[in-house]
Amino acid sequence: MRPLALCKALLAAVLASAAAMVSTSAPAQDRLAERAAMIETIKWHARSAPSAVEGQGIDPAVLQTMGKVPRHFFVPEEQRGAAYRDRPLPIGYGQTISQPFIVALMTDLINVGPGDVVLEIGTGSGYQAAVLSPLAAKVYSIEIIPELGERAAARLAELRFDNVEVKVGDGYYGWPAHAPFDGIVVTAAASHIPPPLVEQLAKGGRMVVPVGGPFATQFLMLVEKRRDGSITTRQLLPVAFVPLRGGRAQ
Ligand code: SAM
Repeated sequence: MRPLALCKALLAAVLASAAAMVSTSAPAQDRLAERAAMIETIKWHARSAPSAVEGQGIDPAVLQTMGKVPRHFFVPEEQRGAAYRDRPLPIGYGQTISQPFIVALMTDLINVGPGDVVLEIGTGSGYQAAVLSPLAAKVYSIEIIPELGERAAARLAELRFDNVEVKVGDGYYGWPAHAPFDGIVVTAAASHIPPPLVEQLAKGGRMVVPVGGPFATQFLMLVEKRRDGSITTRQLLPVAFVPLRGGRAQ
């Protein structure tokens, strides 16, 4: 190769590797300040709902995780500007990504630990599953709308949330092949607590589930299965979720 051609080739290689560095490091750094502000809003919100938040507020491990997960990648392009506001946002097909405070609260309430296996009903955008991913050993998530389930699975894989498995199906019936679950998060409202999910909850496990009709008041419920297998339920706070469809949910 002539000297000039060699120089041009070297310059092209340097520019290509610089571009690759920018594009691979950008997601981790991107919108850090907005995520930090979101965490402060969640803490403020938690202080105003002491009866729902146990102990000293939302677990710092949950807040730390939410400070890292790039929520803006889980919302449609046109919603990205609003991704870190403390409110639900549309994700298509008449569904929503939940408000950050509710994601934090539900994650906190199931007391997820490093060895835990967790089930989520209602994958939606995949954001709640992404928040659960670093806190648990394995996350199973079920979505009833195929397009949303497939899109979320692809996004989670692309962002390397490798311990999350998504399937398309009716979550009312849970995922018996992987039961029992140490924690279950239901992100759509049913008229009652689905019995198959209570069945698939491990002894000592916890489930959070919004209960109530689509046009009636819904309450977030905490279901605990004690070590002796007995069940306790507690009504925590009024919420507004999209309905759990299919099965016997309504
Ligand atoms: N967790 C989601 C997230 O982080 O984006 C938000 C979920 S959105 C509030 C509720 C989701 O539950 C919707 O995507 C909806 O299609 C799904 N859904 C409703 N009924 C379902 C069912 N029976 N089984 C599984 N998913 C269901």
